Amino acid sequence: MQKPKGTRDFVGSESILREKITSLFIDFARNLGFTSIETPVFEKSELFERSVGKTSDIVQKELFYLSSKKNERFALRPELTAGVVRALIERGIKSMPKPINIYTVGNVYRYEKPQKGRYREFRQYDLNSFGEKNPYFDGYFIASAVKFIEKIINKKIVVYINSLGSGKTKELYAQTLLKTLKDNTDKLCDDCKSRITKNPLRVLDCKANCKDFFSDLITIDKFYTGDEKQYFKMVTDFLSTASIKFKIDPYLMRGLDYYTSIVFEFTVLDDTSRSSVLCGGGRFDNLVGNLGGSQTDAVGLGIGLERLLDNMKDIPDIKNKSLLIAPVSEDFVKKSYEICLSLISKGRSAQVSTTTNLQSSFSFALKNNFKKLIIVGDETASGRVAVKDLKSKSQKTVNLSGL
Ligand code: ATP
Ligand code: MG
Repeated sequence: MQKPKGTRDFVGSESILREKITSLFIDFARNLGFTSIETPVFEKSELFERSVGKTSDIVQKELFYLSSKKNERFALRPELTAGVVRALIERGIKSMPKPINIYTVGNVYRYEKPQKGRYREFRQYDLNSFGEKNPYFDGYFIASAVKFIEKIINKKIVVYINSLGSGKTKELYAQTLLKTLKDNTDKLCDDCKSRITKNPLRVLDCKANCKDFFSDLITIDKFYTGDEKQYFKMVTDFLSTASIKFKIDPYLMRGLDYYTSIVFEFTVLDDTSRSSVLCGGGRFDNLVGNLGGSQTDAVGLGIGLERLLDNMKDIPDIKNKSLLIAPVSEDFVKKSYEICLSLISKGRSAQVSTTTNLQSSFSFALKNNFKKLIIVGDETASGRVAVKDLKSKSQKTVNLSGL
């Protein structure tokens, strides 16, 4: 039996690393004042059709559908935000004190063609903030995620950023784009040919790079209102002040339909073809309203765990702080478990070796990166044990109470 295509097992050091990154993300999110939400991995498929968008690739091609006996249509979540918004609306988002700042960690599913950095099951770290619309907050939100990712992968990040304006601006732009594209359908890939009338903006996000066939395709900034222009400028002003490297990409659209206003994605500095986007996000001021809640401004981002791992130069040496307790004979097994229990109760990390052969315990401890070996033998009668440091290989006898 083999794992399904496009999935990944996390075993041993990879699993430890994944936990470590997750716990760093949680610390970061809590430091920002965010609290967590967990929602189901499956939802009614209608939720994704109404949020991510019926004509988006994610819904058109990438949803994993589930069927139930009652013929209800469910799908595995292709992203985390839709479920979070659904949960908040169900609990009466209108009357909740704002801002509502939420982080979510979870697996998401997309039926994509598996390739490097592109899985069918992958993990996202999401931050979503509801009830605040302030360009300096947006700038700060983006900048803090940049700093977090830079620290994890130890590489410089560049932010590609655009503004889609309000829903109205987006619509005006889409109409103009449609005219140009309609006159040049021969240049488009089959997917784009069929999607231009349904959702012409999707052509900008086409993975076959259809937009590159047009040398001077009109850009959305021509349609901004004064306020929209100003808002965008204030966001980028903040990024400049915070020394965040960014590039304005007037064609940046992103794969989810619910974005309006600011959108962005991050790559490492030398990934000029943007093959590995580490984080993507933007404002979605109309999503809560579109899903049946009261209009609530919102901004969010999602970081891909697998992309972080792929962009890490060296996997950091994961220090195991554990103690391995080694009984020297069967007579000391019970005592070893007593000592282990007392260490665990004190919040330490400890295990009892499954062998009474000291040499085997020692090899096991070295191989598994334990910090110290606690040798339990005759000295325990006087409340003492021998402690061997596995790095320096030095050994000393200490009182049990001093462990
Ligand atoms: P891409 O343009 O790379 O397909 P996207 O626009 O589909 O990304 P989002 O929906 O914004 O991405 O998801 C947020 C993050 O999740 C991405 O920035 C990326 O880090 C990660 N991600 C997206 N799709 C995959 C995948 N198939 N496998 C692993 N990580 C992914
Ligand atoms: Mg995608």
